[in-house]
Amino acid sequence: MTHVLIVGGGLTGATLAWRLAQDGVTSTVLERAAVPGGLVRSEHMNGVLYEPHGSHIFHTEDREVWDLATSITPFRDYRHRVDIVIEDKILNWPILLSDIDAQTRGDEIKAELEARRDVDAAARAQATNFEEWCLELMGPILYSRYIQPYTEKQWGRPARELSAQWAPRRVSVRWDDDPYLFPDPYQGWPAGPNGYTDLIDGLLGQPGVTVRTGVDVTLADLDAEMRAAGADRVILTCPLDEFSGGTLGTLDWRGIDVRSVYVPHVDLAQGAMVVNYPSKAFPFIRVHETKHASGQQCEGTVLGFEFTGAPSRYYPIELPENRELNDRYQDLLRTEIGADRVRFAGRLANYVYVDMDDCMREALDAAGALLDDLSRGGSSA
Ligand SMILES: Cc1cc2nc3c(=O)[nH]c(=O)nc-3n(C[C@H](O)[C@H](O)[C@H](O)COP(=O)(O)OP(=O)(O)OC[C@H]3O[C@@H](n4cnc5c(N)ncnc54)[C@H](O)[C@@H]3O)c2cc1C
Repeated sequence: MTHVLIVGGGLTGATLAWRLAQDGVTSTVLERAAVPGGLVRSEHMNGVLYEPHGSHIFHTEDREVWDLATSITPFRDYRHRVDIVIEDKILNWPILLSDIDAQTRGDEIKAELEARRDVDAAARAQATNFEEWCLELMGPILYSRYIQPYTEKQWGRPARELSAQWAPRRVSVRWDDDPYLFPDPYQGWPAGPNGYTDLIDGLLGQPGVTVRTGVDVTLADLDAEMRAAGADRVILTCPLDEFSGGTLGTLDWRGIDVRSVYVPHVDLAQGAMVVNYPSKAFPFIRVHETKHASGQQCEGTVLGFEFTGAPSRYYPIELPENRELNDRYQDLLRTEIGADRVRFAGRLANYVYVDMDDCMREALDAAGALLDDLSRGGSSA
């Protein structure tokens, strides 16, 4: 009977374990932190539910993933709105036409937008970098207020050095004045008492799933861990350079640090769950307030001030050399562990940014592929 070792107890590891358990395949999830959940875990501070790693909004077109998430924990209806501070005023993000008149040089901005309104998306997709793409969409004034300082604060490098690839998913001008960030048909935030922690605990709380926390697994001790768990297959959801002892070099990430503070005596402290602060006059880039999404009724709130440039693994730096390095780590580990025994899943082992719905979809597919392989008695990963 196959038993699977899963390294990392974030949303990927938890979804893998859930899917395997549906087919009666047992697993052991090893998590190095004191509690599972990774980036999505929610916590309490003075009774207020908050997110230590910043706001997470579940939004998807994937009905199967939505049905799975909502079968594990109920979700409340929450549509995400983001505020942004521009010229000391609180405006909407993405850019709304109705916000132009609140700014200086409104007529010039409108002329710059009008001149670009008919540039079609395919032509803009030819842009060679992020800055060029944004300038072609909105013109220089809006770009210099909303995009350039925010992007450079977030990535620590000029926007023209960044790929245009991400722009269509992150940047838009709303000609129809729709203030909400995501268009997906299924959106929400966990309605239970512990936020996303209920989702994680529910996924892991299946018969046949064993969870051990405080275990930092490396290649050097993998065999011992597999023997101890009685596992003959392993799925890695952890960073491969660290796991392998850095033998091929270190993968670059852009990190953030969210400092959360309790604010007494108020219900809410800001107008939206996330407020963006693009100006370099502010040392932080965003402020998070989970209460907007959780709908928790209590006195006091928690604000999370997000600072960039921390040495943590949040956003991969999508350069060909980084992609190639991660591929080389996967090849190395297939050789060291056995191509038939190891698989990779999740944002860290695949060196990608994935939203939670894609993360769950990929975990379901990866577990499904392993189950197919096992049912064929196969040995290829
Ligand atoms: C700033 C930010 C905001 C986001 N906001 C949203 C959002 O609004 N909506 C959305 O859909 N998605 C959002 N996401 C994406 C979401 O966080 C990810 O999809 C999800 O966390 C991926 O889960 P994971 O398990 O792959 O990774 P992680 O959550 O990082 O989990 C990996 C786990 O592995 C453990 N681990 C690592 N190495 C080892 C080891 N050697 N041994 C044992 N354990 C190990 C870690 O401790 C961690 O618990 C956001 C991501 C970021 C960075």
